[in-house]
Amino acid sequence: MDGERLSVYLRSLEQEEDGLLSEIAKEAAASFVPIIKKETGSFLRTLIAMKRPRRILEVGTATGYSALLMSSVMPEGCTITTIEKYEKRIPVAREHFRRAGKESVITLLPGDAAELLDTLPPFFDFVFMDAAKGQYLSFLPRVLRLLSSGGVLVSDNVLQGGDLLESRFAVARRNRTIHARMREYLYVLKHTEGLQTAVVPVGDGVTVSVKTEETDGEPGAGNERGSGRQV
Ligand code: SAM
Repeated sequence: MDGERLSVYLRSLEQEEDGLLSEIAKEAAASFVPIIKKETGSFLRTLIAMKRPRRILEVGTATGYSALLMSSVMPEGCTITTIEKYEKRIPVAREHFRRAGKESVITLLPGDAAELLDTLPPFFDFVFMDAAKGQYLSFLPRVLRLLSSGGVLVSDNVLQGGDLLESRFAVARRNRTIHARMREYLYVLKHTEGLQTAVVPVGDGVTVSVKTEETDGEPGAGNERGSGRQV
């Protein structure tokens, strides 16, 4: 099946977005701010509607598109905490939350997730990981500490527009570290006891992991590659 044609077709099925979301998406495209693809947004909305979380954590706000999208389907009483470190994007996202009237339910934490994740109190029952791809692996144990039992972790861009399928030698030299780290990330997600993970080829590739029991994000003992390895 031709992946590009499939994406075009799937995108054609999507409904028009509400005014502000559509404006943010256009702004993002014009200023090269990377945001989730339309079909990924639709998938995320469906997962939120299904899970009905009480507390959502997002790593990587950008200008607030995905946070607002999630807020449009989350249940009454649910809150979103979202982390962004790029100073220029923080006031823009805050202004979008204000315009949407969502300031009281979406809290933006400015700063580096590498530091902030360790300061947050558990538990979140839905985490959307959408920050620097090379950091997913090191964020994983911290995110799993914050995730409740039965909680869902969704990570975006895991297939890197198809690059992940290529051998490391076919990937541009500058992308090889990320390529290796992302392969490792997928391996760990699939081999950690207490995590049930599916890799879904929607958009740039998404993983959906459910925390079925307490886990520290180390690949379970009993598999050669993983045993005893620190994530
Ligand atoms: N989720 C957003 C959306 O779809 O609207 C897009 C997020 S964009 C792909 C990734 C964002 O993560 C960027 O704005 C980047 O500055 C931020 N980021 C990357 N590494 C980060 C880190 N360590 N801590 C906090 N933010 C980070």
